Amino acid sequence: MTFLKKTRNTSELVDTVFSLAAKAKNDLDPNAVNATIGTLCDEDGQLFAFDSVFDPYDKLPHRLKAAYASAFKGNDNYRQAVLNWVLRDKKIQLNKEIIATPGGTGAVSLAFSNFLEPGQTVLIPEIAWPVYQLMANENSLKAVSYSLFEEDHFNITNLKQLILENLQSQDKLILLINDPCQNPTGYSLSISEWQELIFFLNSLPKNKQIILLNDVAYIDYTFTEDSRAFLEVWNSLENHILGLVAYSCSKSFTSYGMRLGALIILHQNQEVVEGVLHAMDKQARSLWSNISNSGMENIANVLCHPEAYLKEKKSAVQLLQKRAKLFIKQADACHLHYYPFKEGFFLTLVCDEKREAYHQALMDHHIYCVLVPKGIRIALCSLPLAKIDGLPKRLKEIQEGL
Ligand code: PLP
Repeated sequence: MTFLKKTRNTSELVDTVFSLAAKAKNDLDPNAVNATIGTLCDEDGQLFAFDSVFDPYDKLPHRLKAAYASAFKGNDNYRQAVLNWVLRDKKIQLNKEIIATPGGTGAVSLAFSNFLEPGQTVLIPEIAWPVYQLMANENSLKAVSYSLFEEDHFNITNLKQLILENLQSQDKLILLINDPCQNPTGYSLSISEWQELIFFLNSLPKNKQIILLNDVAYIDYTFTEDSRAFLEVWNSLENHILGLVAYSCSKSFTSYGMRLGALIILHQNQEVVEGVLHAMDKQARSLWSNISNSGMENIANVLCHPEAYLKEKKSAVQLLQKRAKLFIKQADACHLHYYPFKEGFFLTLVCDEKREAYHQALMDHHIYCVLVPKGIRIALCSLPLAKIDGLPKRLKEIQEGL
């Protein structure tokens, strides 16, 4: 018997990463490697919690922590600070609005729930954060996966084909990109790849609508400076394209549990932007009401005087970069194959056939990684250098022994 609506799915939520991480934690072998944890950890395996973020938070008055936020769409100072932070020095010619959300998850979720009718298509990467699929299911949307790579670059040909195919039977779709530092491959689109994609979207029939959603959860961990360059390409988005940028404070400010994020809405027409904001404001009111007042105040303050924060974050990025460099050097030396990696928290080994057997064999050797479509995810973000040293060779040997 169920009291639920017929459309609700009653099977238990299985989060394989959490259960795998627990298994890895309980493995007491001194050579055990836990490459499952998707949060940024230091060289002692402890979660990074930036002092530049949490020292000022601790000094906030109790009443500010106790109070409701001043608006359902988020406090004005937070909205403005996050907008400026995400857009940085980019001169955006499109009209823009922003709504505060509980984490990046809330931002992506608003996009999944506001634009498509049941059964319409959201295009998601073939190797991706699994929550996109869950969100599509929850909103009765059809998730269609696009292939990510063609040799060592983005497979734009497949994406174009899928867009055209899907637009034959529907008047709009969501195209989700998770860039830069894509989870879990660590790929970032080049500017010429962005240009080709936007040129193509602009050339689509004007009676079709595209909701272009970029989930930039890892944007503050690029290894190069110009992580916002794609926004300049977005300036040319035509009237039939709505741009959405889903931002997360979780990684950027080591604030996973604070549940802070935002969705930025971009379009040629101000009325369109405001309409979307108003619809989402009401949805927020009815779902989560408002997000943490003190969390928003704190991020707004940190971004007002970001020097200490920038310094701390820079050293975290440098550590991440060191880990990636070591892994890649050793992987290349033993011909261990991984998907094109540029930057970010994760790297993914190429492995289609025997994927599950490989994953199990790794665990038999006390190496814990996350199984993803067409690969095995290595969480560089939580692996100390000492654990990375020698790991690619072990991974290769176990693969060859299958
Ligand atoms: N997008 C991607 C690709 C992620 O990996 C995550 C978190 O793991 C998120 C969005 C959302 O994170 P949060 O809701 O914690 O901000």
